[in-house]
Amino acid sequence: MTATIIDGRAVSETMRTKMRSRVESLGLRGVRPGLAVILVGEDAASQVYVRNKAKACGDVGMHSEVFRYDQSTAEALVLAKIAELNNDPRIHGILVQLPLPAHIDNKKVLEAISPDKDVDGFHVHNVGSLVTGESDFPPCTPHGVMALLDHYGIPIEGCNAVVIGRSNIVGKPMALMLLARSATVTICTSKTRDLSLFTKTADIVVAAVGKPGLVTADMIKEGAAVIDVGMNRLPSGKLAGDVDFENVREKAGYITPVPGGVGPMTITMLLANTLKAAELAAEAALQERASA
Ligand code: NAP
Repeated sequence: MTATIIDGRAVSETMRTKMRSRVESLGLRGVRPGLAVILVGEDAASQVYVRNKAKACGDVGMHSEVFRYDQSTAEALVLAKIAELNNDPRIHGILVQLPLPAHIDNKKVLEAISPDKDVDGFHVHNVGSLVTGESDFPPCTPHGVMALLDHYGIPIEGCNAVVIGRSNIVGKPMALMLLARSATVTICTSKTRDLSLFTKTADIVVAAVGKPGLVTADMIKEGAAVIDVGMNRLPSGKLAGDVDFENVREKAGYITPVPGGVGPMTITMLLANTLKAAELAAEAALQERASA
């Protein structure tokens, strides 16, 4: 069997086309969705991510603002900017680019963002919503994986799903989202004794580790859907995922390439969350006016 290649760029573009018309509809109501991005420090990768996020906003007609701070900026200054943005009606989504410098408390900063504008879905309120039911703003990367599975009609209910990795931004929310759709979910970590024991019976494998070549063809069931979240820069400069793509594609039913699989979806889901935040805010304003 040769796997169907899941084309994240194409799915992203299809989703963005639909978003453009929703942005236009909001425009008719005098609302332009707006995303604020806060970047502290000079990390090269973060600079690229932030540029790409701002560019993506423009691509679908959304407004974006980037606030850049020096590496040595005091935590209080970042918190003050978040408080200002929480009250800015032109801003519907606030994102703090991670990692933050060591002297800034990640948790304090993420909790300072209003849950209504938490388009990264990292606020404890939104994490809790993901655990107890459905969050308005699911974290972008696993949200993108779910969109890919649905776009390709890959069944989730009743399937065996294995998530490799348990980070707060990918592994854990991924497992919760698959569970919410009634998959039987196993989470594997660096302490899992025999990874292949679990992956071999999985209908869906999501690898979110950061180790190139971790998932090999002998670990995969014939016809499984293999989703590679990993993004690793090889010594050659090439980008690679966690999956041995060339060999696994001969056995899997579906597979995401790196680049061009999950990566493009992450930014698109950030746009989706920002658009949703703007729609919810517009709806709330309408109801407030009606009841005044
Ligand atoms: P992370 O916080 O470093 O978490 C990695 C996870 O992998 C940990 O839970 C770790 O287990 C587990 N792990 C490490 N070695 C393992 C092994 N041999 N077997 C099984 N599990 C193992 O990383 P992350 O932020 O979740 O990111 C994971 C990867 O996805 C990275 O390559 C990152 O660049 C990429 N990523 C891509 C996107 C995208 O848009 N495509 C977005 C986010 C992240 P322990 O908890 O036991 O240490």
